[in-house]
Amino acid sequence: MSAPLSHIAIIGGGTAGWMAAAALARVLDTKAIAITLVESEAIGTVGVGEATIPPIQAFNALLGIDEAEFLRATKGTYKLGIEFVDWRAHGTRYFHPFGTHGVDFGAIPFEALWQRARMAGAAAPLEAYSICAEAARLGRFQRPATTGNNPLAHIGYAYHFDAALYAGFLRARAEQWGVRRQEGRVTSVERASDGAIAGVVLEDGARIAADFYIDCSGFRALLLGEALGIPFEDWGRWLPNDRAVAVPCALGLEGRTPFTRSTARGAGWQWRIPLQHRVGNGLVYASAQCSDEDAQALLLSTLEGEPLAEPRVLRFRAGRRARFWERNCVALGLSSGFLEPLESTSIHLVQAGIARLLEMLPVGGGTPADIRRYNRLMATEFETIRDFLILHFHATARDDTDYWRQLRTMELPDTLADRLAIYRASGRLYREADELFSKTSWLAVLHGQGVDPIGYDPIADGMARDEARTRLARIAEVTALAASRIPAHDAFLRESGAMV
Ligand code: FAD
Repeated sequence: MSAPLSHIAIIGGGTAGWMAAAALARVLDTKAIAITLVESEAIGTVGVGEATIPPIQAFNALLGIDEAEFLRATKGTYKLGIEFVDWRAHGTRYFHPFGTHGVDFGAIPFEALWQRARMAGAAAPLEAYSICAEAARLGRFQRPATTGNNPLAHIGYAYHFDAALYAGFLRARAEQWGVRRQEGRVTSVERASDGAIAGVVLEDGARIAADFYIDCSGFRALLLGEALGIPFEDWGRWLPNDRAVAVPCALGLEGRTPFTRSTARGAGWQWRIPLQHRVGNGLVYASAQCSDEDAQALLLSTLEGEPLAEPRVLRFRAGRRARFWERNCVALGLSSGFLEPLESTSIHLVQAGIARLLEMLPVGGGTPADIRRYNRLMATEFETIRDFLILHFHATARDDTDYWRQLRTMELPDTLADRLAIYRASGRLYREADELFSKTSWLAVLHGQGVDPIGYDPIADGMARDEARTRLARIAEVTALAASRIPAHDAFLRESGAMV
């Protein structure tokens, strides 16, 4: 029988490290399984992650976190989706909402009816069927209604927050639940004769030996990449952005919008993420097409308020490790791979890795079948998100710079090319089992980027056109009415006790 798991070492204390520490300590008995987290204050964290997606609610719930307390601690706000400006062409905008568009009618999906009506010129704009898009447009927010069959039950939401404060918030809980924090810089990683990791040695000579290791060391991937030599699969041919310059600024007139904004630029795109006390801004760009100086100048010239810090340049590569779990080591966070923050998926990928690890807790280092399964599931997770991101860059009418001309004519991964072909022919939203983004997300971005089908799904003909027209009109009508009754976002933050 293999030895029971008795000690887990987490290397790195950024968002990934403290999320892993808090979740494991919450679920496991830390008297039986010790958890040590090693981090180096001198190295610091990336910590710009500020926008999230709805599954984070489940993560916080697992930890028993009170929402208002969490938002006060992280100076967070609510998020109903992302507004995309100038992506399809200059002067255009669309909204990628959480929640759903309309409702399905038994086996007849909403989008089949909407596409048929759109082709006949008898449909309202897509956003009119989304409570999140309508509420965002009005600057309103409330949590989903838990009773009644009305649009308020279809609200989906996530948060904007200060990731460094979130890591600190999780650290306090993790330490309270028994995680031991060790300050220090890892200078070497020891290997056992079978190739597994035997221990890590710190600058001051201290040695930490565990039976399982979680590599949360950021882009360097100290354990999985450097020590175990798992190669990095580079996706730069599809996602060429490799830098970001970030700077917070004072809140401007627009205030705390309950959504993230992404504005396309000549060689990248810019985010606007409102927190309670400031706005996070960043320009993500391809260094082959834009210098750091130009990126910084563009970002500073478009801020809505006084910059509150020096702009900070971050370098990255899009892609993933060929394997995420190798021998007795799993990588989470930036050490496992990175996809640019266009759809706020990085913190979610950490969460997804933790959830799977909890399902497959290693017995004696990890059985090969568990390891293969983990690697397969995480690879699909990364690849489906990658395809969704590529869609934003590829399906555009923009041809004003080399950057956009290259992206709109690039060769697509087969998986995305197939999806597009299916959608263009029939409007059908093909999805992989378990993939993160819903059909609401795919439809919002496909239509928003100007991709519309030439035919509609014949299943729509299961409902007479007149009946469908009446039902669609009714959905748009009740959605508008419900949105108009939701409180203003600021008022909701104050009244729910979430505002500092
Ligand atoms: P890091 O924050 O880099 O932490 C690494 C840790 O390892 C640190 O504690 C460091 O001290 C430690 N360490 C490293 N080397 C050693 C060593 N030798 N010895 C000891 N300790 C060591 N995600 C989102 O979900 N939403 C967003 O909006 C978003 N925006 C982003 C924007 C940009 C430009 C970038 C680059 C990322 C963004 N992310 C976003 C991603 C998000 O910031 C990260 O996924 C998240 O913070 C996790 O980072 P991490 O913990 O893996 O790494």
